[in-house]
Amino acid sequence: MINRIAAGEVVERPASVVKELIENALDAGARRIEIATAGGGLSLIRVTDDGVGIDRGELALALERHCTSKLDGGLDAIGTLGFRGEALASIGSVARLALRSRREGAEHGWEVAAKRGEASEPRPSAIARGTQVEVSDLFFATPARLKFMKSERAEATAIAETVRQMAMAHPNVRFTLSGSDRTTIDFGAGPDQAARLRQVLGREFADNAIAIDAARDGTRLSGLAALPTYNRGNATRQYFFVNGRSVRDRQLLGALRAAYADFLGRDRHAVAVLFIDTPPNEVDVNVHPAKAEVRFRDPGLVRGLIVGALREALAGAGHRTASTGSEALRSTLAGSAMRSHYRPPPPPPWQPSGLAEGDQTELVDMPASADMRVETVERINAASIDKPLGAARAQLHENYIVAQTRNGMILVDQHAAHERLVYEKLKAAVRAGTVPTQLLLVPEVVELAEEDVERIAARSAELAGFGLGVEPFGPGAIAIREVPAMLDGVDIRGLVNDLADELAETDSATRLEQRIDQVAGTIACHGSVRSGRRLRPEEMDALLRQMEATPHSGQCIHGRPTYIELNLSDIEKLFGRR
Ligand code: ADP
Ligand code: MG
Repeated sequence: MINRIAAGEVVERPASVVKELIENALDAGARRIEIATAGGGLSLIRVTDDGVGIDRGELALALERHCTSKLDGGLDAIGTLGFRGEALASIGSVARLALRSRREGAEHGWEVAAKRGEASEPRPSAIARGTQVEVSDLFFATPARLKFMKSERAEATAIAETVRQMAMAHPNVRFTLSGSDRTTIDFGAGPDQAARLRQVLGREFADNAIAIDAARDGTRLSGLAALPTYNRGNATRQYFFVNGRSVRDRQLLGALRAAYADFLGRDRHAVAVLFIDTPPNEVDVNVHPAKAEVRFRDPGLVRGLIVGALREALAGAGHRTASTGSEALRSTLAGSAMRSHYRPPPPPPWQPSGLAEGDQTELVDMPASADMRVETVERINAASIDKPLGAARAQLHENYIVAQTRNGMILVDQHAAHERLVYEKLKAAVRAGTVPTQLLLVPEVVELAEEDVERIAARSAELAGFGLGVEPFGPGAIAIREVPAMLDGVDIRGLVNDLADELAETDSATRLEQRIDQVAGTIACHGSVRSGRRLRPEEMDALLRQMEATPHSGQCIHGRPTYIELNLSDIEKLFGRR
């Protein structure tokens, strides 16, 4: 009964069994780990390794609770993944378990079985060097837990995710997953960490990520962090490993969020795989029965390392934007190109009426309606053509700038780009205490709830630092008299409302740096009304040059891309010219 109670914490679902058995194989120095499952792991989980194996005399011991061979260094410096001596005992008490093993040089292997937590006498077994653990009928002994299992398919998916996760941290080990559950995996072994991450997470992630490598006081941070524009709607693609152990730790996730805070909207999440390697006595892994959490002796150091290294790396990425934008564009275009290639082209959506006499030579002017006008650049700036974002050629729909580079074209979302430019400029000016302001001819009055008015009034000195002159206007309204001059125009009502929400969430306890970022973000968001504004050719070019000079300008402050690039060779391919 004691074992089954303990098992409740260690073995939550089939994937937890897989995790524990893989950990044991890794601790045994395996180079190859084969996992086979059936019925979502509920009917069968079999993990086979080529590690050091277990002596006949210790097979039964291995199944006993609190029996471990891994605590030679004591609890203060745990260098192995396991140390609690609980996994096999727990699994053996909630499932049928067979343990087969053969040591190097032994004539043959031995096998014991656990039934209701009791180990049988060892029997000879035909097995190669290493260990095999076979778990069947999981939770048959604890029907309450069995009822809580999701579908076999969901459990199989969780198992595959566990295998992928553990494989990320151990590129020199070959992992295979097979069996009647649908997912199969085969990650070949190699010395290269980056290559393994590419195998597990795909080429697209690797192409859109920045390599991280930094160290501080003996603690090293490495891995891959995706460009902000390559973001996700949830935090499931954030992986942390501490000394090779996969952990899900609030502090680490918080540090990652802080590092990307400048680049992502609140509902978007970064994608990253980060490895923290630290001397074992700097970290306490004995926190949680499933060993999924850790405590650092110096949490500030680790947080500082993560936030510092990632910010620096992202700043180094400059105006780079995720290639997924161009890929999406290419595949959309390629899709329509394919259609016209292989199927009879669809009838045009207009009726050909035949050309009237003289029509051949006559060109018609664009309609004068405002949003149909295309602003074009007659003479392009020769100096601009070799710049990363090229020379401006045209503005379409009063928001999209088309630029020409030496070997391709760039499409810029003017509104998104402008938002980032204003944000970075405003932040720098606020820090320097020099935000130029512009007095409104007629103060704008915005009605608000009384507590919001109070909140804004209480912070008016701080807001003045952002170039916002605000004062209460009676009990239920705020008057805006001054705005930052760098804004083109401001949606004052939206800005004041969002600021009120913002201030309700942050208070004087929030770090100044973070407050600056948030308020500047809100102002930039409402101050960037450049979409819908026609730009003169010089202005278009100037915007491109500012983007190149501004950090993080590849994404707007909500993490969307600000521009998309299309190479000439891609364009040629689309038209079948190559
Ligand atoms: P822990 O890993 O915390 O020590 P387990 O219950 O997972 O506890 O395993 C108990 C012991 O059985 C281990 O300490 C190890 O000596 C032995 N063992 C388990 N799996 C393997 C394996 N795949 N290869 C070699 N030894 C193993
Ligand atoms: Mg173990």
